[in-house]
Amino acid sequence: MSVDALRQGGPAGRRALAKAITLLESSLPAHRAQADALLTACLPHSGGAVRLGLSGVPGVGKSSFIEALGLHLIQQGHRVAVLAVDPSSSLSGGSILGDKTRMERLSVQEAAFIRPSPSRGVLGGVASHTRELIRIVEAAGYDVVIVETVGVGQSEVAVAGMTDCFCLLQLPNAGDELQAIKRGVMELADLVVIHKADLDAAAAMRAQVHIVSSLRLHGQAHGASAPVEVLQASSLTGQGVAEVWQAVQRQQAAQDRDARRHRQDIAWLHERIQAGLQQAFHDHAAVAARLPGLEQAVRAGTLAASTAARDLLTLFLRNTPHG
Ligand code: GDP
Repeated sequence: MSVDALRQGGPAGRRALAKAITLLESSLPAHRAQADALLTACLPHSGGAVRLGLSGVPGVGKSSFIEALGLHLIQQGHRVAVLAVDPSSSLSGGSILGDKTRMERLSVQEAAFIRPSPSRGVLGGVASHTRELIRIVEAAGYDVVIVETVGVGQSEVAVAGMTDCFCLLQLPNAGDELQAIKRGVMELADLVVIHKADLDAAAAMRAQVHIVSSLRLHGQAHGASAPVEVLQASSLTGQGVAEVWQAVQRQQAAQDRDARRHRQDIAWLHERIQAGLQQAFHDHAAVAARLPGLEQAVRAGTLAASTAARDLLTLFLRNTPHG
């Protein structure tokens, strides 16, 4: 599996991409080693894309908007990859984001690559796979990477933490906006789009005014260097789709993208270290043997949880081979 195979484009490039993804998602240690080698080889060819995160509650029109935006971008000569972080698929095997063949017009484009989320592992694992995949599709020549997720909790934080611009889709009615603001999701947004603006122009306008003023009120908690723009769009009529892309470009020009990516990469490093340690801890035979007894003691109130944790960690560290 080589970078050149990925970069050749056309059907052969696509096949190489599919193979690379299978490698990345494999749990076999030999595959993981190959995947790591491929990732390292891809890095010098990656980083060239605009990484756009996109979120919103189910039904807000994410697929429709990605299709409209994707087609617009392809018309402008871009190559667009669509990835997804779907918290539901890792838990139940089902998917909130649904079957991505819904983007029927986009998926048949030679310049588009649409990949649903992997279906195994916990959210952290899925998000890490997506981070890896971003590097792979960039090396394969896609210059816009859209990472989609749903408006439910953790996955939005994960996607905001792997993209250059995090865009939140909202419905043109006040209830949902308030919800999003309350949950603090709005603080993650670099861009807010009142979607389905065709449904009710007056409501869309009210929503826009409301969100602009509440953003002013709450300030920009995530320290974005560019002001958060609030726009209206409709995937049905095409209204505002080009403007959203212009806003993404303005936001890109205004921010220090390298600094943001460096922060994200370091956070990714630490997240993976933690995940690896946790896995090793729980796979540790002596720890697994001692754990039930200590849990019992904590439940019975004869041992403080912190003491039990220290006991287990000592056991883990003593019996873990170094280096
Ligand atoms: P997702 O669950 O967020 O991916 O939402 P979908 O893209 O599947 O869209 C949900 C529903 O909203 C579908 O029935 C779409 O046809 C409809 N829809 C999507 N975009 C628009 C729009 O701009 N205007 C209107 N009126 N309906 C839309």
